[in-house]
Amino acid sequence: MKSQIKIGTVFGVELGLHYSWLVIALLITFSLVAQFHTENRSWSEPLVWTISIITGVLFFACLFAHELSHAVVAKARGLPIHKITLFLLGGVAQIEKEASDAKTEFWMAIVGPFTSGILGLILLGLAWLSGWVPRTAPATPGTALLVWLGYINLALCAFNMIPGFPLDGGRVLRAVLWWAMGDAERSTRLAARVGQAIAVVFIGLGILQFFQGSGLGGLWIAFIGWFLLQAAGATYLQVQTGSLLRGLRVKDVMSSDYQSVDPNTSLEVFVHEQLLRSGRRCFLVAQGGRLLGLITPNEIREVDPKDWPVRRVGDVMRPADKIHSISPDMPASQALEIMGREDVHQLPVMSDGRILGIVTRAHLLQILRARLELANVTIRRRAA
Ligand SMILES: [Zn+2]
Repeated sequence: MKSQIKIGTVFGVELGLHYSWLVIALLITFSLVAQFHTENRSWSEPLVWTISIITGVLFFACLFAHELSHAVVAKARGLPIHKITLFLLGGVAQIEKEASDAKTEFWMAIVGPFTSGILGLILLGLAWLSGWVPRTAPATPGTALLVWLGYINLALCAFNMIPGFPLDGGRVLRAVLWWAMGDAERSTRLAARVGQAIAVVFIGLGILQFFQGSGLGGLWIAFIGWFLLQAAGATYLQVQTGSLLRGLRVKDVMSSDYQSVDPNTSLEVFVHEQLLRSGRRCFLVAQGGRLLGLITPNEIREVDPKDWPVRRVGDVMRPADKIHSISPDMPASQALEIMGREDVHQLPVMSDGRILGIVTRAHLLQILRARLELANVTIRRRAA
């Protein structure tokens, strides 16, 4: 999840917005304007727009509150968390490690829907206190805002409690299965399967409703189903990858014969004398054994070849503080996950500020392929 706008930091957690959210914000504002117009025709155009935009911004704050509650419980239970990104259908709290026990997973998952549910009840309660009668159109712009936000938070709570992994409800289901069976991997696989089944039901229902004339509403349900199916499938694959790479740590798969380059080398010299000759794509930029950054064809492409003689490696490298480095004891499957999430092809391995080596995605995929081939053989043998 790279393409995002940074908003700020709360409790040491970085908040970000995926660009897709701009489209959603616009859609929500437009639909609010339409809804508030029909609810009370005497409200002026500027009033309706103002209230719609404020409602939209508060909705977005409610989504952050949901994600932040996951983050707070994760932190309290000792799981590091750096980033929350809001995207198309809600948010993701990027928790660095998976929960190590069923109880942690359970509380971490359920606190999100719980927060949304409580928020929904409080907002509807406030609307009621300000004179709103349930099942009638709100009389004032203020109550209209409270009622809409109240219902949408209840809907968020309900949607997230659908027991399809990786929705919160699916995580709760996984935690319960995990607690009952004592097997993290099997319970994840089961929860992902349930998620896929629910997704298929959603798609079927959506298509049925569409042909019965419900139009966009039906397509929306089918779309959510499709999204769930993708997510559940990805989770399933992730578990498979994890079990194939089981037992391997970063130190087992890293390569220590990495090549480094001095930051003062000109790009011209670096490209022609090192990059194009070595057959490698990633070089560590180091001086006196200290890692300064990393340089790959990606960084060089940004520079006009005309300027290569005057630009130095140190000017265009990706600096060390922007690189995710990993420790030699991290499980190899986790390194692969980080590469996927950060959209990079390699990670430097560091220990006590020293470079030990480098792990590349290509190498990990080769290992995976070899293990997968062997796994097929053992399965066939067992079947025979
Ligand atoms: Zn959640």
